[in-house]
This record gives sequence, structure tokens and C-alpha cells, in this order.
Amino acid sequence: MIDFELNTQQRMLKEALHDMGKSVIRPQSLGWDRQKTIDLAFLRNFYMMSQALRGENNPMEDFNEGPKNRDPGKPVQTNRTAAMGAEELAWADASIMLSLPGPGLGGPPIRASGTPEQKERFFSIFRDMSDELRWGAYGLTEPGAGSDVAAIRTSCKRDGDAYILNGRKCYITMGGRASWVVIFATVDPALGRAGHRAFVVEKGTPGFFVGKIEEKMGLRANETAELVLEDCRVPAANLLGGEEKYQTKEGFMTAMKTFDNTRPLVAAMACGIGRAAYEYARDFVKDNYVLGRPIPRYSAIAERLARVGRNLEAARILTWKAVWMADHHLPNAKEASMSKALAGQAAIWACIEAIEICGAHGTLAEDHALLEKWFRDIKVYDIFEGTGQIQRIVISKRLLTDLRAF
Ligand SMILES: Cc1cc2nc3c(=O)[nH]c(=O)nc-3n(C[C@H](O)[C@H](O)[C@H](O)COP(=O)(O)OP(=O)(O)OC[C@H]3O[C@@H](n4cnc5c(N)ncnc54)[C@H](O)[C@@H]3O)c2cc1C
Repeated sequence: MIDFELNTQQRMLKEALHDMGKSVIRPQSLGWDRQKTIDLAFLRNFYMMSQALRGENNPMEDFNEGPKNRDPGKPVQTNRTAAMGAEELAWADASIMLSLPGPGLGGPPIRASGTPEQKERFFSIFRDMSDELRWGAYGLTEPGAGSDVAAIRTSCKRDGDAYILNGRKCYITMGGRASWVVIFATVDPALGRAGHRAFVVEKGTPGFFVGKIEEKMGLRANETAELVLEDCRVPAANLLGGEEKYQTKEGFMTAMKTFDNTRPLVAAMACGIGRAAYEYARDFVKDNYVLGRPIPRYSAIAERLARVGRNLEAARILTWKAVWMADHHLPNAKEASMSKALAGQAAIWACIEAIEICGAHGTLAEDHALLEKWFRDIKVYDIFEGTGQIQRIVISKRLLTDLRAF
């Protein structure tokens, strides 16, 4: 039976994140947005504090590396904890959520396809970051290949004990700061997905450069970088999973497996931003509309709030279903796409409605009035990790496959 109840540890973590979000993060959110970065000292303190809160049984470590010394068939709670944390942190500030140190989007493909040695090598750098914060990243998108993942042109050619990579990756979250990036390349574009290979390319590898850091509409304090590979020699030991994994379409599947884990987390973040806007508008209505005002106006606004609240709740429940399935090791590609498609749209709509409900006040950009920032931040949630249109294609394919099964 599906169970969405949080355990005591999860409830305590949620409350602590909420309190920190409200009292420490929100007041600095617009400042970081303007300076287009999050103060590193703050990020370090916040990271250390959240590690301490999580205690010895660190769910994020499990989420990134996979459960250790556990029965692989036994349900876990890691995706649920991560989704709950993602919503709460994005409620406070989505840029800080995406800038947290750790493997980031690079974690799931290594967890899904890496050999035990690769997992140890690439994850061990995150175990103790008391000396220095470190990040991982995920490099799939190229100037000519966003939604159409199969069209990547970054090439890889075997040369002795290494591969030579050439190409360009764009819009890579934390790509400039990352200690390593999972880079997708092809041995031959004519082979389509079967030609794909995934490599872990380490910072400092000759021929691996950070290009432009993008100027963005929203999530401005979170880094989005272009990465360039010019005759970049990557050891064959960095090919994820080893050569035999790629006799089929495994390279492409590595990219897709990442999404089944991460799309519900993106959906959870969208719910967090949408909830922030909804709560702001709700409180504004409570504070500024008295029942003595003309009833039609009041009730029309209350009805709009009700619709926004209902849609966000539906998106959250679908998101939690997708993470519950992941925690129970059930295939969740359809639910992951459904949650992301619904949450992105519901949260965009929540931000638009909240601004309209607050009128001119909704357009202010002040530390205590962040609706315009949330409105800028939310749009990309219906673009990255697969656009809304692409999610609907994934969903319809799965629905039609299910139909054929009857
Ligand atoms: C802030 C940010 C962070 C990102 N982080 C990363 C990252 O860390 N790593 C990474 O690899 N990428 C990252 N991306 C890239 C992101 O995943 C892509 O932007 C996204 O997949 C869409 O690709 P595109 O921008 O090339 O748009 P396109 O694929 O060119 O799509 C343009 C439009 O066409 C529509 N479309 C495309 N194909 C179809 C179709 N078959 N049917 C119907 N409509 C279609 C799309 O829905 C969209 O509306 C990031 C992007 C942003 C903005």
C-alpha cells in the first residue's frame, strides 16, 4: 500500500529546513540573485549544518551512491527524503537547492551504471568536504541536441588506453565548478543511441575547458556553464560501466535512467516554488481583503487560490507516488514524467496567479516580496530535465505500451 507518512527523522529534517529557509535563506535570496552567486562561506556553513542534521544515517549519501550493506530488494526512504528536502529548500530558494555541494545530476548515472571501483573513486571525494566544497555535474545537452538526445555530436575515439573526446556541451548546471562531469559522447552518430558512451571527465584534464557562464532569466545565483572538449584524452577507466556495457543501447539508457530518479526531484522543487508563491498570495489576501469588501471580488479571488492550491496538491501527490515507486525499486518512468509535467505547469500557473492576485504589489522585487523572483525562477522547471512536451511524449508512449499489454 502506498504510504506518504514521514517518519520522525524526516519530519524533524523538514521542520529544520523550513525554519532555516524562512529565517536565514529567504532574506538573502534576492541579494544572491542580483550578485549571481551564493556566498561560498554561507554555502559551506549551510552544508555542514544540514549534514549534522541528517546525522550518521545520511540519506543523501544513499541517494547518490546507492544503499550500502542493505538487501537490494528492500524498500528505502532515500528518494522520499530527497524529495521532501528538495521541496522545502526550493520553497526557500531554488538556486541554493541546485548549488548544494555533492555529485548533483552526475550522481544518478554513476550510481546506475558505474563499476564498484568507479563509484568509490568518484563518490569518495564528497564524503568529507570540511576542507573544500566539491560538485559533480551532468553533461548531455549540446547546441544541436537538447530534447533530441540521440542527436549528440560530441565524439569519442579509442586511442590506446584512452578515448579522445571532441565537442561542446551547453547549459551544464554547476559545470564550471565541478570536480568531474559525466559527459555523453558518440563513437559514430550514424549508430544513433547505440553509439553513445558516458565518461567521467575530471577537472584539469588537458583539453577540457569551461566556456561561457550563462546569463539567465531565473535561477541566477546557480551556475550554468558551457563546457568544451578539444582533443581531450580521457582514460578508458573513466568509461562508465566499462566497454561491455555498450554492446546494446546502454549508453543512452544511462542518460534515461538518470531522469527516472531526478525528474520527481525536479517536480518536488517546482512544488516548493509554487507553494511559496501560493502561500504569499494567500497571506496577502488574508491581510488585505476584509469581508466587508464587495463579496464577488473576494470570492472570485478565493476561488482562484483554491484552484492553485488544488493543482499544487495534485502535483505533490503524483510526485510522492513517483518517489515512493523509486524507493520500492518499481519502474517509474511514466510517473516520473507525469509528476514533472504536472508540477512544472502547476507551479508556473501558481506564480502567475499569485502575481495577478497581489496586483502591482506582486511585481515588487524586495527581500520580503519575492514573487517576481519566483516567477523568473519557475519557468525553467518546464524546460530542463526534458520539456513539458517531451514529458507528454514519454507519458503517451508508456500509456500506449500499457494498452497493448491488455
Ligand atoms: C538552467 C538550465 C540548466 C540546465 N542544466 C543542464 C545540465 O545540467 N545538464 C544538461 O545536460 N542539460 C542541462 N540543461 C539543458 C536542458 O536539459 C535542455 O535545455 C532541455 O532538454 C531542452 O533542450 P533545448 O533547450 O535544446 O530545446 P529544444 O529541444 O530545441 O526544444 C525547443 C522546443 O521544441 C519542443 N520540442 C522539441 N522536440 C519536440 C518533439 N519531438 N515534439 C514536440 N515538441 C518538441 C520543446 O518542447 C521546446 O518547446 C539545462 C538547461 C537550463 C535552462
